[in-house]
Amino acid sequence: MHRTTARTTTRTTTALLAAVLAGTALGAAPAWGRPADGPQSVHQVEPRPVHQVEVFAEDGGISRAQAPAGSPYLADRPQGVAPVRGDGEVTALVHNGEPAAKLDVVVVGDGYTAQEQEKFRADATAKWRELTAVEPYAAYRGLFNVWAVSAVSPESGVTGDPDQATVRHTALGSYFWCDGVERLLCVDEKAVESYAARAPQADLVLVVANTTKYGGAGYNDVKSPVGYEGIATVSGGNARSGQIAVHEIGHSLGKLADEYAYEGQGTYQGDEPAEANISTLTAERMRQQGTKWARWLGQASPDGGTVGTYEGGGYYPTGLYRPTENSIMRSLGREFNLPGREAMIAGFYRHATPLTSPTPAGSRLTAADRLTVDLPVSGTRLRWYLDGRELPRLADRTSLDLAELKLTGPRSRPHALTAVATDPTPAVADPALRAKLTASLSWLVAR
Ligand SMILES: [Zn+2]
Repeated sequence: MHRTTARTTTRTTTALLAAVLAGTALGAAPAWGRPADGPQSVHQVEPRPVHQVEVFAEDGGISRAQAPAGSPYLADRPQGVAPVRGDGEVTALVHNGEPAAKLDVVVVGDGYTAQEQEKFRADATAKWRELTAVEPYAAYRGLFNVWAVSAVSPESGVTGDPDQATVRHTALGSYFWCDGVERLLCVDEKAVESYAARAPQADLVLVVANTTKYGGAGYNDVKSPVGYEGIATVSGGNARSGQIAVHEIGHSLGKLADEYAYEGQGTYQGDEPAEANISTLTAERMRQQGTKWARWLGQASPDGGTVGTYEGGGYYPTGLYRPTENSIMRSLGREFNLPGREAMIAGFYRHATPLTSPTPAGSRLTAADRLTVDLPVSGTRLRWYLDGRELPRLADRTSLDLAELKLTGPRSRPHALTAVATDPTPAVADPALRAKLTASLSWLVAR
């Protein structure tokens, strides 16, 4: 499949000018296009902040483009008037527990009218299914909550669908043909933030646009005061676009680098990068130094082939190595490689815990009480300790009648009961990361 890199054409310019002249653009004016684009630069406006975003070809190829932070296609919001009914409404699509103990994904819809909010929730649910069909999301879905935030748009669909001349004003201002690239679906970041802030917590934000046209964008340099570190935009009605979110969350949760390169970028000359999946080191030196993905070298990787040091990654064709030939961090539709999977699981546990309980830790309990704990990830091992001594007979029991403890001593001297959960997955090998895979809770129990 070819990559569309055409510049904005006269047709788009006309549509844009129409939008601007109609007074529908929010704020000063859109910083659309680049000075080199010609006619658009006559607006002489202060450019809005521009972000590096990622563009995803239908054949899985990934590249980067520039996107303005704002959108010229934001719907006019009535001010000082009663808000639109249902706008900003939050629904839990997946609720596995308290936000503090979970990874909270917020899905915001764009281009859905008041009558289409059920469709939005159905599209959002389908996207979540696409995402969690991929490992390690599949095995760890119990660590996530998914919140759908309704954004009511006055018009159905988004700008640029089906063609460049189509303009629609929507709650988040989504538009194709961003930076002159048809499949690049940009949004107004401030509008996204205002809706995402409605959810109980936002660790990740996914914008689902009401369109079947293939496209999306990855905003991975976003640091929002709301707490999330990335926005992925995807088409709600296009099944391949869910892969965009799979890749994008690799950046925001796994802190992974891109494993693709650009022709002509030259040779990387910098220091060793911080990301876990790119390195200046050859396999031999990596093994000697015991750094980066040294533990995985020579092992069969889920994305195919063997972990090694493949030249090209982090945008440079030479001077930087990646762990495998072609993982999801290089092309859509692929699996994470072993170092990527390890980083993802560690990222999940930065936001979520392997052990929760409906009984608050620190509570005072008696022998008459029943204590239960939840292990959201299957395979998690559980150990129990009383006053620091392990009770091996209770291993892996998630529910206890505290009378079973046969406690003695005065009621005024409670015992400390502790549950320790560990995810034993071999997919995380780094001892520093493995430490995040254990959590404990303690309670006070008197007879
Ligand atoms: Zn990327």
